[in-house]
Amino acid sequence: AQIMSRGLPKQKPIEGVKQVLVLASGKGGVGKSTTAVNIALALAANDSTKSVGLLDADVYGPSIPRMMNLKGNPELTSQNLMRPLKNYGIECMSMGFLVEETAPVVWRGLMVMSAIEKLLRQVEWGQLDYLVIDMPPGTGDVQLSVSQNIPIAGAVIVSTPQDIALLDARKGAEMFRKVHVPVLGLVQNMSVFQCPKCKHETHIFGTDGVRDLAKTLGLDVLGDIPLDVNIRKTCDTGQPIVVSQPQSDMAKAYLQIAMEI
Ligand code: ADP
Repeated sequence: AQIMSRGLPKQKPIEGVKQVLVLASGKGGVGKSTTAVNIALALAANDSTKSVGLLDADVYGPSIPRMMNLKGNPELTSQNLMRPLKNYGIECMSMGFLVEETAPVVWRGLMVMSAIEKLLRQVEWGQLDYLVIDMPPGTGDVQLSVSQNIPIAGAVIVSTPQDIALLDARKGAEMFRKVHVPVLGLVQNMSVFQCPKCKHETHIFGTDGVRDLAKTLGLDVLGDIPLDVNIRKTCDTGQPIVVSQPQSDMAKAYLQIAMEI
């Protein structure tokens, strides 16, 4: 990702972090976190000299701790910064490390903003080539605040090919354009399901919706990830497919996406 965004006046880079990539979606449940985790791992797997961090900015529904098999409270450094938790070579920070997994986050907007600010600035990220940010779904305060706070190299938007998801994905793409964040492309998730027994292919959420949207918006499709039980199981058990089944076609699809950004 060589494209740098035009820095807005209020923006301040995170010390030590070279490039920030955000993973966004219009709707929830389309596979944004799954894609964020696997892309972060793929960026590290493609080039072992690169250091990668992963920030879970989905403060209402943090899923990175489970997907990255991490729990516990971050230690504080002598400068009172939180030390990220690390697994599979990725430095991770999430609201999920600070609150109980079962506790709902019932906060007003301002509290969310201050939590995001803390997760961005009061963490000892160290030297990172990439910081991947898993955004909450939609186009709300968090997206706006992150975009205005730090320079973002690019946004990747995840969607299923279903109309209702596409509509919201389009709004997401347009929001990033408005705040001068380059949209690197779209990822089409869950477009095809292949029956493991008879190999018949079903397009549960539609076939080419994300491709068509990309054409309309003049954007690239960075990859096409099938609906597959292994993607779900590996994430649920904290062993994402890029690290647990690196030879699978699905892992290769994530590795390819990471090559293109
Ligand atoms: P979001 O971040 O958009 O809310 P998640 O990444 O949490 O979505 O995914 C929602 C659910 O769908 C999770 O249970 C995840 O394991 C599953 N999932 C995501 N992508 C796929 C896929 N390509 N195949 C199968 N299951 C998937």
